[in-house]
Amino acid sequence: MPTESLAGSCLCGSVRFEITPPFSAFRYCHCSRCQKATGSAHAANAFVPAARFAWRAGESLLKQFDLPGAQRFAVSFCAHCGTRMPHRVRGRDDFLIPAGVLDQAPAQRPENSIFWGSRAPWYVEPGQMPCLNEYS
Ligand SMILES: [Zn+2]
Ligand SMILES: [Zn+2]
Repeated sequence: MPTESLAGSCLCGSVRFEITPPFSAFRYCHCSRCQKATGSAHAANAFVPAARFAWRAGESLLKQFDLPGAQRFAVSFCAHCGTRMPHRVRGRDDFLIPAGVLDQAPAQRPENSIFWGSRAPWYVEPGQMPCLNEYS
């Protein structure tokens, strides 16, 4: 497993962080909460132990929404640009990293899709439709 650190940042660049792989888990989550929180078909969540996570800039711009009634579900985001950012999972030693905000490619790949039975009814697997490199 690689041990070089990976950088991550939000769309406006104000919030920056650094993680050191390996991930303790890396998966797509198709649950209805992740659909709402991402505005997409699923989340792509990687997890790293807190000891291997560090904020590098903009921590004061972070806002966090803890879903009332949920055991752990939370959304953290940059208050300036709205990009989802990592957060420490309540009651756990892990940080959840929304993989799309990493600036460099991790060596690991997602290992599974969870809450598959809750997937969006409109979801089509990428292999089942044309994949283009530009707008069509
Ligand atoms: Zn931002
Ligand atoms: Zn989910």
